[in-house]
Amino acid sequence: MEVSISEILVNEGIKKEFYFFEDIDNNIIEFFGEKISIKKPIKVEGYAVNYEGKIRLYINIQTELARSCSRCLGLYNEMIDIDAEYVFVTSPDKQSNDEILIDGETIILDEYVLDEITSQMTMKPLCKPDCKGLCFKCGKNKNYEECDCTFDEIDPRLQELSRFLRKE
Ligand SMILES: [Zn+2]
Ligand SMILES: [Zn+2]
Repeated sequence: MEVSISEILVNEGIKKEFYFFEDIDNNIIEFFGEKISIKKPIKVEGYAVNYEGKIRLYINIQTELARSCSRCLGLYNEMIDIDAEYVFVTSPDKQSNDEILIDGETIILDEYVLDEITSQMTMKPLCKPDCKGLCFKCGKNKNYEECDCTFDEIDPRLQELSRFLRKE
């Protein structure tokens, strides 16, 4: 995903539009050690414009990721739809906070796009907000099946121990 800015560098105010629909990095995103697959090519569209000698770039990123629910372990698709903007400068004298210094007349978007995607991904993925998860005892997926397990029993050995302790 390369955007050539050679024309807009010399023409203030002109928009350079771009559109990409691409697979990147074998369609795998590394996220805290987890390898997450990208299910659709990443769609990136936007434009760049030269404003007072700085290149402002606006993008929208859309794709779909295969996630595994942290409660029930089921696979589901996480939709990604992000708007982002950046300011690029071509000389260090013009650079201020958050502005990115570039060398040459091409902006390569891949790294920015991947960073935006990982920053929007949920740390605790859920297939649905009210996912009931798996039963700790029998392992059934409680979204689909009820089970009769109960969780309020105390281990008989612990009951003995607490009776013993109470006597002391
Ligand atoms: Zn779930
Ligand atoms: Zn159960």
